[in-house]
Amino acid sequence: MATILCHVCGIRHSTWSNAWKRHQKRHERMASLPPTAPIVNHEEVNRIFDSHPPEKLEDALAHEQVTEAFKRIAITMSNLPPGRERSLVMTKLEEASFYAHACIGRNPHP
Ligand SMILES: [Zn+2]
Repeated sequence: MATILCHVCGIRHSTWSNAWKRHQKRHERMASLPPTAPIVNHEEVNRIFDSHPPEKLEDALAHEQVTEAFKRIAITMSNLPPGRERSLVMTKLEEASFYAHACIGRNPHP
């Protein structure tokens, strides 16, 4: 099968059935679009990646409640039969715990 190397994206394409022509047209369309803005701005990057130690008592208590709730669930789930599914449960529980703490940290009491 005949192929041609696209010098725009560096991918080899079949010359069969107008695929190459369609590919070139796609590059033309993309080139005519305005440049895209970055998905996140600096303020958003800081909000996501800075640590947010609680300043208000309510937030400190919320972190404690979340921690205790997840520990209770983790202990219950640790009684599941061992294996991949239990590992996934624990992993997702950790993820949920991270997001719960991030939720409090990123949205502190005013
Ligand atoms: Zn290409």
